[in-house]
Amino acid sequence: MVRAENVHKSFGRTEVLKGIDLQVRPGEVMCVVGPSGSGKSTFLRCVNHLEKINGGRLWVNGRLMGYREKNGRLYELRDREVAEQRRDIGMVFQRFNLFPHMTALENVMEAPLRVKKRPKAEVRARAEELLERVGLADRKGNYPSQLSGGQQQRVAIARALAMDPALMLFDEPTSALDPELVGEVLSVMQQLAADGMTMMVVTHEMGFAREVGDSLVFMDDGVIVEQGDPRDVLANPSHPRTREFFSKVL
Ligand code: ATP
Ligand code: MG
Repeated sequence: MVRAENVHKSFGRTEVLKGIDLQVRPGEVMCVVGPSGSGKSTFLRCVNHLEKINGGRLWVNGRLMGYREKNGRLYELRDREVAEQRRDIGMVFQRFNLFPHMTALENVMEAPLRVKKRPKAEVRARAEELLERVGLADRKGNYPSQLSGGQQQRVAIARALAMDPALMLFDEPTSALDPELVGEVLSVMQQLAADGMTMMVVTHEMGFAREVGDSLVFMDDGVIVEQGDPRDVLANPSHPRTREFFSKVL
């Protein structure tokens, strides 16, 4: 579902990703952990081509993101083609970036109406179904300001799912939440994983990584230091940097 080969990314002279190689199989939940500034968010943003990579290759769903390859050379895709590629990918950020002037239901309906141009009744029925799936059927008429952080984040997940993505990217989806609201969001993500969604999750929730993750990647300073089965890596980190990081977060 995702394949990264020797992905490099620099901002000016600072190299933030120094050759990332990984694969995420269909239905796999990959958790990505690592210290602040290690490049986790940058990598997720490269996966859906919100950032252009400076070297290497990145495929999502069998398609080279952002480029067409011809006779060994890469040609940039047009914005419209990139937008079309991105439709396969749902993203949920740390900050619930819902549209404040729209209700929960309208937030979930917006993209399929505008982008997919589906009939309104069909989009509404599907949006109601998604809000029910994240436990918010009774909140569909509320505006974001009338919802808790955990509820807003669940609307954000429903909104991402409304485009029927093949891959969901989560960038610290619970780290802006009050502790008592973290569980409700993680359990929606756990359900999504159980339903077979392919997911990449940047998180500090090691319990989630252990219980739900199929694989764990530890990044530090722009490289993957260690990866494997989350239970193995957490119980037996083989690299000193991984051990040091876990000793701080566990
Ligand atoms: P955190 O855990 O704090 O979210 P992270 O692992 O997600 O950290 P990134 O946000 O990917 O880290 O940042 C990696 C490095 O890239 C940092 O040094 C950051 O300052 C730098 N960086 C990120 N985005 C930009 C940008 N748009 N311009 C310049 N530097 C950037
Ligand atoms: Mg980050």
